[in-house]
Amino acid sequence: YRAKSTRGRVARYRVEDDPHGRDRLQTLEALRAALTRGELVCHYQPKVTLSDGAVRSVEALVRWQHPDRGLLTPDTFLPLAEQTGLMRPLTLAVLDQSLRQLRTWRDQGRTLSVAVNLSVTNLLDTDLPDDVARLLQAHDVPPSALVLEITESVLMADSRRAGSVVDTLRSLGVGLSIDDYGTGYSSLSYLQDLPVDELKLDRAFVGRLVADPRSAAIVRSTVDLAHSLGLRLVAEGVEDAATLDLLRGYGCDVSQGYHHSRPLPADRLEAWLDARGRSRPAPRRHDAPPV
Ligand code: C2E
Ligand code: MG
Ligand code: MG
Ligand code: MG
Repeated sequence: YRAKSTRGRVARYRVEDDPHGRDRLQTLEALRAALTRGELVCHYQPKVTLSDGAVRSVEALVRWQHPDRGLLTPDTFLPLAEQTGLMRPLTLAVLDQSLRQLRTWRDQGRTLSVAVNLSVTNLLDTDLPDDVARLLQAHDVPPSALVLEITESVLMADSRRAGSVVDTLRSLGVGLSIDDYGTGYSSLSYLQDLPVDELKLDRAFVGRLVADPRSAAIVRSTVDLAHSLGLRLVAEGVEDAATLDLLRGYGCDVSQGYHHSRPLPADRLEAWLDARGRSRPAPRRHDAPPV
């Protein structure tokens, strides 16, 4: 395989750069096999509530533990899964794994919820709500402990069908979040109708917050917009303390990014949570309300 470059430990081979080659077929077969062999693993990145520093939720981010190529990030295999009908089994595998993990954490007394990303094809799949309901039940997880992150592109692909899948998911009682908010084309129109709980402002805005007053203005007004609509605002891609301080000043609710933690395998996330619990002062009894 031609690795495009090898920055760090993650190979940057991109399947979509090689649309007809043998690599693609081999990778497709390998991905199919990976799904049955359990080579797809979830890493988890904490979402930090800014009012009290608590971690109430983690986002599951899929990786492929490839036998030869090492740990692959989703950009290297999600496009292929999307094009070849493997997105449904992939999403079911991620939901199954992350809900099982959440059950374990809750049994350990960790009152977390988990966020799972959905793709375009998932939201056009009218069987998805039944699948979600079945998996929640199988792992004995309450619907309120699952958040589904959907992107704006999903909603534009076929908004009637996607809208009905979203409504059905909503009626199960799962939380809904709009991911990469601000990068799509119709950011405002669907906010009128969509029953979501959370906006995740794309890291393109968050990353430039400190250096660029225009980005700062966008972030500030998006916080206000979210709050006017009764939604939580999550900032993604928070990489330093200066950015975090500004976000706090703007009234942002939740922060996620390398500044807090990279996505981690489940056992390392547990260690991170435990270390953080020891170093943070115990919250006072009458502290800020939960987010
Ligand atoms: P996303 O859902 O917007 O997730 C955030 C991405 O930004 C993750 O990349 C995360 O590792 C990265 N990130 C987090 N904090 C920082 C930061 O401070 N700085 C920078 N530069 N990056 C940060 P990842 O894990 O490579 O995932 C990329 C995208 O792939 C995700 O974007 C999501 O759209 C998709 N994805 C990941 N897992 C799944 C999955 O299980 N199912 C589906 N359908 N899509 C997934
Ligand atoms: Mg996401
Ligand atoms: Mg995002
Ligand atoms: Mg993203």
